[in-house]
Amino acid sequence: MAALVWFRNDLRSLDHPALSAACAEHKTVRGVYLLCPQQLNEHLIAPIRRHFLRRALDELGQQLGELGIAFDIIDAEHFQYSAGQLADYCQAHNIDAVYAHRELLVDEIKRDDACLSQGIPLQLIDDSLLNPLRVTKPNGEPYKVFTPFSRRSRDYLMANFPRCLRRPAAQGPAINNRHCAVFGEERASDDWPVSQTAVLEQLRSFCAERAADYQASRDFPDLDNTSRLSATLALGLLSARQCLARLQQECGDAIWDTKTGAGTWLNELLWREFYRHIAYHFPQVVKGRAYQAYTDQIPWPNDQRLFDAWREGRTGYPIVDAGMRQLRDTGWMHNRLRMITASFLCKDLHIDWRWGERHFMENLIDADFAANNGGWQWAASTGTDAAPYFRIFNPTTQGQRFDAKGHFIRRYIPELAHLSDKAIHQPPTQANYPAPIVDHGIMRHITLALFQDARD
Ligand SMILES: Cc1cc2nc3c(=O)[nH]c(=O)nc-3n(C[C@H](O)[C@H](O)[C@H](O)COP(=O)(O)OP(=O)(O)OC[C@H]3O[C@@H](n4cnc5c(N)ncnc54)[C@H](O)[C@@H]3O)c2cc1C
Repeated sequence: MAALVWFRNDLRSLDHPALSAACAEHKTVRGVYLLCPQQLNEHLIAPIRRHFLRRALDELGQQLGELGIAFDIIDAEHFQYSAGQLADYCQAHNIDAVYAHRELLVDEIKRDDACLSQGIPLQLIDDSLLNPLRVTKPNGEPYKVFTPFSRRSRDYLMANFPRCLRRPAAQGPAINNRHCAVFGEERASDDWPVSQTAVLEQLRSFCAERAADYQASRDFPDLDNTSRLSATLALGLLSARQCLARLQQECGDAIWDTKTGAGTWLNELLWREFYRHIAYHFPQVVKGRAYQAYTDQIPWPNDQRLFDAWREGRTGYPIVDAGMRQLRDTGWMHNRLRMITASFLCKDLHIDWRWGERHFMENLIDADFAANNGGWQWAASTGTDAAPYFRIFNPTTQGQRFDAKGHFIRRYIPELAHLSDKAIHQPPTQANYPAPIVDHGIMRHITLALFQDARD
């Protein structure tokens, strides 16, 4: 009999609790990944992310092959039927134990329940969180506000610093794992490393060379001083534990102080945790509903023409357009720009935040359902711990503040490159760049009225 490790968003062999448990308890171990092209489509997976996934699976197959572990990709017909296909695979390969990491979204929980009810010997192990759902208020209720959640999380982590697991010992002679799976339309993701050595080096160099400066520099897109590990974390090429361990190794106790760069970076990892907790405890947010139920009453006008201008980066607001063009051209967008462009879509163009959420899912290499939903609901003031609805970013002053010299705008909007540092934020009329498509002052007042009417 053999054990099976069912890989999900945890495509690595280092610090992999399910793999380690399988190897410790069984002589023969196989690995499997269920790939469902229909699900990739239904989950709006971006072409760049499909390519990234393909490369990550190739890399995982190689890592497992070196350990003598056979790795298969099952071409699953549909997410819903994966239990049946997995049961067939287990029978064909004499599997008597299946190890996997617990997933926290409602459909994934249902899928795992279906596997268990079909008799698949599935053991679910916590992996994706630093604080496996144990961080609740003293009365056991989930946190709905980030600051107390993060404080409590840090206390928990100080007392229970998570340890990373080594790679398991080889199970046998090396195996050449190959696959030819179908991922649908792909777009090159080669700028994003997948090899274990490169990913670990990316983490090390960020923690050693840039984390200390993170607090001061993270909001300035031109400096590009954030870790750019989001895509890697979303597919689990790295674990959050590895990030925390490396951060502590390089920055010591500064990680516990939120006034330091390292402490601020840990806080960002905790935002990732927070939104996962929210998606788990309040599954309505995963079903397209706003956390603040009253905001579902807002009659967003949803003007398709304005939406098209936003997604194509031709709103006439340079910092918004530069952000949207960064997404279009690279499949990634800096966090400050995600906040500005999301706020602009909802509060200046009056388009339902779900349209923006979907557009990000369709284009981001790091698309992560909980983080994306949390980010959109934050920006739209519809979420648990959202920006208050009357706090509305002014897209011009945001540009002046976070790209003062216009370096970032010039990189993505070359037609404005000749303008002075001052003029670039409010360009004079020119043939090849649009005038602002809306008046921020007027749209701001309408936003306030939309929210106030929905509340009454
Ligand atoms: C509207 C909107 C949509 C977003 N969509 C996503 C998404 O689909 N996937 C995604 O990973 N992040 C999303 N974020 C959060 C954040 O913008 C990205 O995680 C960050 O820009 C990634 O860059 P980085 O790896 O250099 O981050 P760093 O600044 O180096 O942060 C380290 C890690 O912490 C996590 N993180 C940082 N900020 C946040 C945050 N606000 N919420 C949750 N996790 C965070 C990420 O895993 C990130 O890689 C979104 C934010 C907004 C406002």
